[in-house]
Amino acid sequence: MNETPTPNSFRAGPDEEGRFGIYGGRFVAETLMPLILELEGAWNEARVDPEFLAEVAHLNKHYTGRPSPLYYAERLTEELRGVAAAQGLDGGAKIYFKRDELNHTGSHKINNCLGQILLARKMGKTRIIAETGAGQHGVAAATVAARFGFPCVVYMGATDVERQSPNVFRMKLLGAEVVPVTSGHGTLKDAMNEALRDWVTNVDSTYYLIGTAAGPHPYPELVREFQSVIGREAREQMLEMEGRLPDLLVAAVGGGSNAIGLFHPFLDDKDVAIVGVEAGGKGLDGEEHCASLTAGSPGVLHGNRTYLLQDGDGQIKEGHSISAGLDYPGIGPEHSWLKDTGRVEYVPIMDVEALEAFKMLTGTEGIIPALEPAHALAEVIKRAPKMGRDQIIVMNLCGRGDKDVHTVAKHLGMAI
Ligand SMILES: *Cc1c(COP(=O)(O)O)cnc(C)c1O
Repeated sequence: MNETPTPNSFRAGPDEEGRFGIYGGRFVAETLMPLILELEGAWNEARVDPEFLAEVAHLNKHYTGRPSPLYYAERLTEELRGVAAAQGLDGGAKIYFKRDELNHTGSHKINNCLGQILLARKMGKTRIIAETGAGQHGVAAATVAARFGFPCVVYMGATDVERQSPNVFRMKLLGAEVVPVTSGHGTLKDAMNEALRDWVTNVDSTYYLIGTAAGPHPYPELVREFQSVIGREAREQMLEMEGRLPDLLVAAVGGGSNAIGLFHPFLDDKDVAIVGVEAGGKGLDGEEHCASLTAGSPGVLHGNRTYLLQDGDGQIKEGHSISAGLDYPGIGPEHSWLKDTGRVEYVPIMDVEALEAFKMLTGTEGIIPALEPAHALAEVIKRAPKMGRDQIIVMNLCGRGDKDVHTVAKHLGMAI
């Protein structure tokens, strides 16, 4: 967590202003500034405090179940070698999954929530607020709030409250208050606006537990650091299992937290290619996608400068994805910078491709993935047959599919 990167390192950012190149920073109301600075101070102490880091590590191990396995997907690898052979190719890379879907609460979100709740406690805060879209972050935030005895308010777009009722129920069971947000289209962007508004009015008591590597500095950095446990483990596990680093990393990007968590420890390994997968929805020619990096442009949203889906007047567009967790019209600022520098390639995957990948994984490996990592898998399915048999792909399987079975059933025309 506190290694010093080399000069000119891709791992050196953000700078003191919280910027990654021209992205990031902190564009917040003046009333929030003192709190942001207080948070930054607490974070800078915590990140080098051995006791704090030991407590994070302890909870990761005993509460979440880390390290998550790095799993060689042998049947899927063979299946795609068959696809390669049918095309007259001799290829088919070995595919490994980082199994973060096995974490407590079913996704990578808990890695970040545990780190931030300890930070909130260290700062003497007494109330937790969070925003959520699909509800995965809301559930993880409500979980750690229960574990540490904090009252918790989760802002959730009214549309999402209807679409994601099982997660709303889970949050309530865990003792959180779920506040439906009716402004805008009642989705994640509106929930995040409302959480920021709450924070301004309750600065003294309240800790804002943000769910992805976005928002004003220092959030993109601290969320990245808590999620980087994914990449640090994967690196070590790969060296142990294969004696070398992988050739390609692949992860789905919504706000970008699971992806930056896997990517960051590998950014200076120039022989490791890295691909982030955005929601291409129903195609990039219309409005029904959420590919902020591939089809958006830079602007300011939720306290930072980054790539956004916006119209000519800077109005934020809604976006669409079959997967509610990829349905964010922005992206963490570090990804914007990694795109512009060319270190990471970002590609869109369509809803239908993600569904096909979902089916293939379920059938070949007996793993029902969330629809978000199904996007990453669809890109793996495209690339693996074209790569050599001695090459290695690591994909972040960042969430399990229980939450998505209704959506999938509907799209496949199955009764549930
Ligand atoms: C929330 C979520 C995402 C998207 O968020 P990131 O910050 O981009 O990781 C992706 N996958 C799963 C399983 C999620 O729950």
